[in-house]
Formats: sequence, structure tokens, C-alpha cells
Amino acid sequence: MKESYIFRSCLSSNGSRLNSLKSVLSELRLPFSPGDRIGIKLHWGEMGNKNYLPPIYAKEIIGWLKAKEIKPFVFDTTVLYSGGRREGRQSLITAAKHNYSEEYLGCRVTIGDGLDGKDVIDLPAGYKHFEKVQIGKVIKQADGFVILSHFKGHMETGFGAAIKNISMGFASRAQKQRMHADAKPSLNKKKCILCGECVKVCPVGAAAMEDKEYPVYDLSKCIGCAQCIAMCPEMALKIIWDTDVRVFQEKLVETAAAVWKSIQGRAVFVTALLNIVKDCDCLPGNHKTVVEDKGFIGAYHPVIADKEAIEIVGADVIDSIHKDIPWRRQFTYAQEIGF
Ligand code: SF4
Ligand code: SF4
Repeated sequence: MKESYIFRSCLSSNGSRLNSLKSVLSELRLPFSPGDRIGIKLHWGEMGNKNYLPPIYAKEIIGWLKAKEIKPFVFDTTVLYSGGRREGRQSLITAAKHNYSEEYLGCRVTIGDGLDGKDVIDLPAGYKHFEKVQIGKVIKQADGFVILSHFKGHMETGFGAAIKNISMGFASRAQKQRMHADAKPSLNKKKCILCGECVKVCPVGAAAMEDKEYPVYDLSKCIGCAQCIAMCPEMALKIIWDTDVRVFQEKLVETAAAVWKSIQGRAVFVTALLNIVKDCDCLPGNHKTVVEDKGFIGAYHPVIADKEAIEIVGADVIDSIHKDIPWRRQFTYAQEIGF
């Protein structure tokens, strides 16, 4: 199959979102055989998030695979953030709360790097930032993958979809931290209302606040997860980068490219252009959509899938919500390293 093939099903005024997905699935040719164990990589949303992709679409994909005698399972990996997905057990509770349960989906729901986040392996990378990348062992445990991505904005990458899903989405916690390591918060005191939210959400205790004093951030402890920046109600925090602002985008792409070398030829990509909000599904809360729903796309390559998604949604939409993030670097760097 040609990697450049794209299938898109845009919503007509009376078209249902599920029909849009069905139409894309009917076009995709699968590189899998009956009996194969296929992992569906997705994000079931942080506890309290209201914008995650509803599980009905994963259920549709599961039914589509089962009809071909393929054995699907659903997975995500542990994360850096505090909240409902840091540890595997908590994450499965969060998944079930959002109906990503074995009972509803009809297949196993699991954690790709193990319940304790320690089921990981190194993959060779050979790029300028990473010689190797550390990834959930699931990459070796499945015969193939369906990468189901929810397209949306993101506070560090500008947008998040297929590239991010196989990069951060497959990465171990240590690898996630290596990618984030250069981002640190910087406070604009004029905007701060001393609410303490940044202290509450910091997963490593790097943010602290004395009574009625402005918060302070211990940058030697900070892991750069940007949770405080995203959750600040007054937008009083900005990211400062220890290195070139584009390095984070490059690290994201290098991890994705290393994963791609391992799953190329045994993965297909389905991206939902629905419920598109400014930031990712890692944040609690109900966030406003920034553009109307567009439907689904299917593809055989993550970079091509993301380029197509941007074209449909509009680069101007991403620029308007994250004007300081050099998200285009993901595409130029992918080209430079032959991804
Ligand atoms: S979350 Fe924002 S407004 Fe609240 S204390 Fe922290 S920096 Fe200040
Ligand atoms: S201070 Fe650093 S580690 Fe803590 S929430 Fe902010 S970015 Fe994350």
C-alpha cells in the first residue's frame, strides 16, 4: 500500500460522526492477518476532562477488526502529570470512568508500559538529541497497531494528533521527561491572583507558595510537564525554554520516528477531527471548541496524517490558539531526518 494514501470523510450538514468513521474504515486496507493481536493506541482523557474522544469510535474500530478475525486490545501509557493517569491502576480507573472499559468495548484495556510504568524497552534512534528512546514494551507485544488520535491543540506542541500519539503516547515516563526537560515556567506577577492552582497540580513539588506570597518554582526539580502553565486560570505563567524553543518539537519527532521504524508496515492511522479544543485531553475541565467538527481521516503514515489534518482544520486555527509555538518545526524536522 502507498503511504501517501489518505482517506478523509468530512461531515456533511446531516452526516453523523460515526458514519464518517465507518466510511474511512471501509477504505483502509489492513496490513494484519486473522489471529493477529492488534493494539489500538488512544488517549482516554484525564479524569475530569470533558473533551476526550468518546469511546464509541474505539468500539466501532474494535468491531471492524473483530469482523476480520483480528484480536484487538486498547492501551495507553502512564504519564508525568499528577491526576488520574500517572499510575497504571489509576489510569485504568479513569479509563473505565470514561467508558473505556472491557465491558463496553468488548476487548482488553491495558497499560502499554505496565501498571508501574516499568515495562519498557530501548529502541535505537540515532538522531542528534536521542541515540535511543525508551518505549512501552507493548511495541513488541502486539502484531500491529491502529493509532486512533484525537486532533486538538496543545500547550507545548501547538497541536497533537498522530505524531504525538506515537511519540509521547508510546514513550515511557523517563522518555516523556527527556522530551519535556527544557520547558520551565516563568511567572508574570501582574497577572497572578495567588490562587495556588499551580502548586496543587505540580507532580514533583517544584512549585511552592507561602501565605499571600507569589508562587516560586524550583527549576532544579521541575520536570517541564507544563501542567502549571496549562492550569493557571489567569494565564500568568509562560514557558521559558532552556534551549532553542524548537528543540522540544525535534525531540517529539525523533521519538515518533524511532517508534515508526519499529511499527512501519504494521500500523494504520485514524484521526478524529472532532471536539477540537485549544489544549490536550490531559487537562481536567470542559474547554471550548475552537473550530467546528470536521470528521475522520485514515492514513498509513503519521506525518502525512498530521499534514492532512492541519490542512482540513486550517493552520490559521493553530496559529491563532498557540501563536508562539513553532509547531511547523515538526514537519520540517521530520523531513530533515527522513521520517
Ligand atoms: S495558578 Fe496562576 S494565578 Fe494561580 S497562583 Fe499559580 S501563577 Fe498565580
Ligand atoms: S513547576 Fe515544572 S514540574 Fe511543576 S507543574 Fe510546572 S512545569 Fe510541571
